[in-house]
Amino acid sequence: MRKRFFLTLSCILMSLFIIGCSNSNSSSKSSKENDENKKLQVMVSIYPLKEFTETIGGDKVEVTCLVPENMEPHDYEPKTKDFEKLINSDMFIYNGLGMEHWIDSVNNVVSDDKVLKVNSSDGIDVRKEGDLLDPHSWLSLIQAQKQCENIKNALISLDESNKDTYEKNYNNFKNQLQNLYDKYSAKFNGINQKDFITGHAAFGYLCRDFGLSQKSVENLYGEGEPTPKELEGLVNFCKSNNIKVIFSESLASPKVSETLASEVGAEVVPIYTLESSEDNMSYLEAMRNNLDKIYNSLSK
Ligand SMILES: [Zn+2]
Repeated sequence: MRKRFFLTLSCILMSLFIIGCSNSNSSSKSSKENDENKKLQVMVSIYPLKEFTETIGGDKVEVTCLVPENMEPHDYEPKTKDFEKLINSDMFIYNGLGMEHWIDSVNNVVSDDKVLKVNSSDGIDVRKEGDLLDPHSWLSLIQAQKQCENIKNALISLDESNKDTYEKNYNNFKNQLQNLYDKYSAKFNGINQKDFITGHAAFGYLCRDFGLSQKSVENLYGEGEPTPKELEGLVNFCKSNNIKVIFSESLASPKVSETLASEVGAEVVPIYTLESSEDNMSYLEAMRNNLDKIYNSLSK
């Protein structure tokens, strides 16, 4: 209810704001089109999309992330100043699949002829949990390739003159994603243990890619610490499956992960959901790190 109130308020404020500045925006856009050296101004919702867009766009783009660093993106709500930044960009790339539960407020106040809106998960192989869409598609090295293709096509649609650069950067990155997938696909095929425990249920796509299975301390949206009964269930699961590592995320209940680990005599190891930039790692470094740690924990 509180969220809805703030969204409505944001919409009203933004409508007023847009009416107030629509003239200055259209003039700044037309001057942009005349200036070939000016970088495309791209706004993205969450961190992994920033890195994908920077990798594909290179020095032709300037990318800003809407969700501030170190904020849990599932908890984020856009503020009036965020809409202000958004309306002044050329393109807004979002993840889709419910990652941005506030996306309607953007669609209501920012029209497509002002800012090109790109749903980066268009056409991916969507994963569901019951009736819920799993938004964590970027944690699949396969689905991330489709997201990058969508980003590449969107950049080309606004900046045809640099098509070759975008195609080349995209192909390089796509190959790196595929190579990392191929390497770990072979490794995971060779082990019997497939279950691991993590902070929130972010790794469903990664599990599907490699035939693994996650159990989590928090749910799909990083909400709800386990009840004592659920915690007891996790403890029993760890004991009967000889689980020696509990993965912990910096933005989701690390304390519960620690409690669980001490109950079952397991080690706590950090894992990256990439929902924000962590430890200065690139997407590929963080993914390699995740896969390596999961593989090591399962092959113990
Ligand atoms: Zn998440």
